[in-house]
Amino acid sequence: MRLDTLLIEAFCYFCKKSFLMGAENNLQVLLQDPDLSADLKHIAAKVLNHERITFDEGVLLYEKGELGYLGTLANYIREERHGDKTYFNRNFHIEPTNLCVYDCKFCSYSRLLKQKEEGWEYTMDEMFDIVKKYDDEPVTEVHIVGGVLPQYDVPFYTELFSRIKKHRPELHVKALTPVEYHYIFKKAKIDYATGMKMMMDAGLESIPGGGAEIFHPEIRDQIAKDKCTADQWLAIHEEWHKLGGRSNATMLYGHIEAYKHRVDHMERLRELQDKTGGFQTFIPLKFRNKDNQMSNVPESTVIEDLRNYAIARIYLDNFDHIKAYWAMISRTTAQLSLNFGVDDIDGTLDDTTKIYSMAGAEEQNPGMSTKQLVELIKQVGRHPIERDTLYNVITDYNDYQFAEEPKPQYYKLPVIN
Ligand code: SF4
Repeated sequence: MRLDTLLIEAFCYFCKKSFLMGAENNLQVLLQDPDLSADLKHIAAKVLNHERITFDEGVLLYEKGELGYLGTLANYIREERHGDKTYFNRNFHIEPTNLCVYDCKFCSYSRLLKQKEEGWEYTMDEMFDIVKKYDDEPVTEVHIVGGVLPQYDVPFYTELFSRIKKHRPELHVKALTPVEYHYIFKKAKIDYATGMKMMMDAGLESIPGGGAEIFHPEIRDQIAKDKCTADQWLAIHEEWHKLGGRSNATMLYGHIEAYKHRVDHMERLRELQDKTGGFQTFIPLKFRNKDNQMSNVPESTVIEDLRNYAIARIYLDNFDHIKAYWAMISRTTAQLSLNFGVDDIDGTLDDTTKIYSMAGAEEQNPGMSTKQLVELIKQVGRHPIERDTLYNVITDYNDYQFAEEPKPQYYKLPVIN
């Protein structure tokens, strides 16, 4: 058994016991702990009093905060906001192409134009056929994101979005990141405000959180030099928020960045959120090292992944939700993350994304039925809620009985006379 797994099992035993005492009580116990340093106690008191922590305190949490301490703080915030509620949605992905004009060093997904034979480029009709495949399925969202190629331009995407909305008006279109928007608006010689308005008019309803990577130029210039800068990424989300749109934000962590770069990343997001309030969810993305130009960089441990979720929950006091992509981090770690600030584990996916599997994620064909997702959440004592993209409740699964649930089998026992 791996050391990570052993530690987590031991920690879960502790968690189960301590959760019976209640999240607030745990925090009070922590504050009385004579062995806890004064600076960490000060941060715990801030969390209890709903005070914002500073940049330096964010770095301190990364440097000194142990898993149990961070989990106690993050779970207190999570349960205060959401109780045991854990959200997921029913969605499918369309990835227009895995060819890309950019060459991000961490990317396991894209193939350069010279590797065309290894790639796919869907036409408008092919993408529309994927949408039609789900006509009889109770999905609420289509998530569209992929590589960047010249033929996927403003007219292409506005037509795609309006065709989807015309065909199925209730299907929420969540599509493209500032990486694509910056590229296509520049090509069309239109500013961000005009471009985002055109997208909204065509049917775009939300922007996913991708393309953020690490904002700080010391790291961004090394791993994603050519695509949109941090300021451009933030400016596109700001324009979208000004139009009343909602969006998400990610952070690719666990490679060559230092803790101060992670905190800087979250600080920039927290500042924009103070201004616009348009972000819904923060999604830490674990760097995976399969088949990319950074394969020599080791991946973060599960312990570090859980610490990172917890610190994000503590630092981003103005974000409603922290999400873990189960397809990226494995089902077990997703379950564990629910004790470290996470309240959302994404969607059913239906094996429609290659982004995680190509990067080396454990899930090579990611897809779960609603029932499986619900069971995954219930197994760790949380309360499953199917949401739409904007977190309206679609179904509360706490006491829900699945119609197709298999009946228990009883076998006759031998009778001994
Ligand atoms: S991360 Fe995105 S922008 Fe960068 S190479 Fe991969 S697909 Fe292209």
